[in-house]
Amino acid sequence: MVFQDTTPFIGLWGFAMSEIRALLLEVEQHGAKIIQSGRDRLTLRRAALVPDDLSAQVKAAKWAILRFLSGVGEPELAPTTAQEFRNHFVLWPWNLHWDLPHPARRYLKPESHGGGFWHWCSDCGRWAVHGFGVDLQHGQLGEWRCGLHRTDGKR
Ligand SMILES: [Zn+2]
Repeated sequence: MVFQDTTPFIGLWGFAMSEIRALLLEVEQHGAKIIQSGRDRLTLRRAALVPDDLSAQVKAAKWAILRFLSGVGEPELAPTTAQEFRNHFVLWPWNLHWDLPHPARRYLKPESHGGGFWHWCSDCGRWAVHGFGVDLQHGQLGEWRCGLHRTDGKR
């Protein structure tokens, strides 16, 4: 691994975005999983499956990974499905901290995926608890807002 920024994207503390992606994919290939468990916290699930040198790389890149996962600096990124989100960030949107805003998660449409029904605040990208115009029996997935951005259906 070369610790050198080779992309125009700046702000990953010397890491290239492609290096961060490769690191996250490599962790997955070992059957482990990285979760953002807080604003400045990453958790490596099933860490025992990850070779020590890879763990050390993740640890060394922690702040760059967090920065990458935050989606900051990529204003044009607007995934509408969990799969599109994952294509960019490697992690599923629900593997990032649910209660933190996320600029890219704002664009995700309500979606059933893997047995869950996922809906994020269209204002800030936090987990949304208030749904408007939801009628699941008739396939209307509605629009969703968090407690902070609840508008009682009025825009
Ligand atoms: Zn919100």
